[in-house]
Amino acid sequence: MSKELSAVAADFHTHTSASAHAYSTLYENLTVARQRGLLAVAMTDHGIAIPDSPHIWHFRNQKCLPKQVEGVRLLRGVEANVLDDHGLIDMPADTLDMLDIVVASMHTETMHPGDREYMTAAWLAVAANPLVDIIGHCGTDKYAFDYERVIPEFGRCGKVVEINESSFSCRAPSIPHCRTILQLCKKHGVRVTLDSDAHFCTAVGAVPRSLQLLREEDFPTELVVNAGREQLDAYFSEKGIEW
Ligand SMILES: [Zn+2]
Ligand SMILES: [Zn+2]
Repeated sequence: MSKELSAVAADFHTHTSASAHAYSTLYENLTVARQRGLLAVAMTDHGIAIPDSPHIWHFRNQKCLPKQVEGVRLLRGVEANVLDDHGLIDMPADTLDMLDIVVASMHTETMHPGDREYMTAAWLAVAANPLVDIIGHCGTDKYAFDYERVIPEFGRCGKVVEINESSFSCRAPSIPHCRTILQLCKKHGVRVTLDSDAHFCTAVGAVPRSLQLLREEDFPTELVVNAGREQLDAYFSEKGIEW
C-alpha cells in the first residue's frame, strides 16, 4: 500500500435489530462508531425478500433520521438482495432512491447458486444497475463467477467492491475468492470498501482481517473509498451525499 492503512474512517455495511438476526440498536451502533473514531456509518438492514428483514417502512421512513449523530454521519441504507441472473433486486426503485447507500448482496435464502455463467450474468446485470452503490461480499464461494470479466465492469460502472469482515468468520471458504477479487481490483483500478457487516455493535468499524488482506496484497490506499476523510469527501461528492 502506498500509505499503510491501520483503520477505516467509515463503515458502509452494518445491521441493527430491525433485522431479527442482529442484536444492537442504531444508537448503539453509532455510539461504537463514534468511540472508534469513524466519520460515517451506514445502516444497511436486509432487503425485504429475506424473512426476518424489516418492513419496507423501515427503509422509506429513514428520511426522519438526523444526518449527524454526535459527530458521526449517519447514512441511510439497505443491503438489498440480488434475486436472479437478471440482477433483479428485492427493493422498489423509488425506495432505493431515498437511500444514501445501496449494498447489493446474494444470500442463500433469496438466491439459488447457479453455474458460473448464471452468476456472471447476475453480477453483470447488477453492475449495470445505477441504483446500486456497493457490491456486497461477492467472494461467497458458492456464488463464484467470472472474476476477470466482471470486476473491471464493476469499476467501469462506478461500483465499489466490498471486502466484508464477517466473511472471515461466517464465510471462511470465500476468503481465497476475496483475495482473487482484491488482486483484480488492484490490477484494474477498481475501488473497494472494507466493511464490518456488523450484527452486534462492538463489530462496527472493526475490520482487522480485511486490513491484513489489503496489506498482504499491497493494495493501494487511494482505491479504498473509506480509507480516510479525503477518500470519503471524494466519494460523497460523487454520490451527492452531504456531510
Ligand atoms: Zn449479506
Ligand atoms: Zn449484511
